Amino acid sequence: MGQAVLILIKPDGLKKSLTGNILTRLSETKLEIVAAKMVRVSQTLAEEHYKHLKDKPFFGEIIKYLQGDLHDRKKVMALVYWGNNAITKCRDLAGATNPEEAESTSIRGSYGRITTNGVYENVVHVSSNVTEAEREIKLWFTPNEIIVDLYATKNVVQKEFPNKVWVTEA
Ligand code: GDP
Repeated sequence: MGQAVLILIKPDGLKKSLTGNILTRLSETKLEIVAAKMVRVSQTLAEEHYKHLKDKPFFGEIIKYLQGDLHDRKKVMALVYWGNNAITKCRDLAGATNPEEAESTSIRGSYGRITTNGVYENVVHVSSNVTEAEREIKLWFTPNEIIVDLYATKNVVQKEFPNKVWVTEA
């Protein structure tokens, strides 16, 4: 059965110019990319993304990490992959959370590190299960940014909602 999974290339991955390597590794899964964008991560988004870790001693550090404060790279690349067994396939490729424990051939084993401050800089985020994937995808993307219908949607008419559009020549 088809499954969707959120992948984030975190600020350390972008700073180390690993985007191409990571996407190449993920292409081994033969899954389909159904959404992709660069995101400037707000504190609210970072805290919502990691809300299950709110009580951990490293919470403050991972919020700074995801926002790019540790790497002078205030952006992440967010993607949605779709296909059979997508979560297990992508998590296997990513490797263990602790980059020192990740298999050496995995993405985190190849490119991750633990800093002297103890932060796990593990290059990518991959949703951990179907429920988390849905929560995270809905947090990072709007329905219109995904080229397939993953979850139920409804139409709303938004009045007086400020929205940026391109300026075109008269
Ligand atoms: P993931 O699903 O493998 O990313 O793991 P979690 O959702 O549990 O953790 C989110 C992120 O918090 C990880 O990717 C790490 O960057 C960081 N993290 C998790 N566990 C630890 C830990 O024990 N120590 C430190 N310093 N960071 C951690």
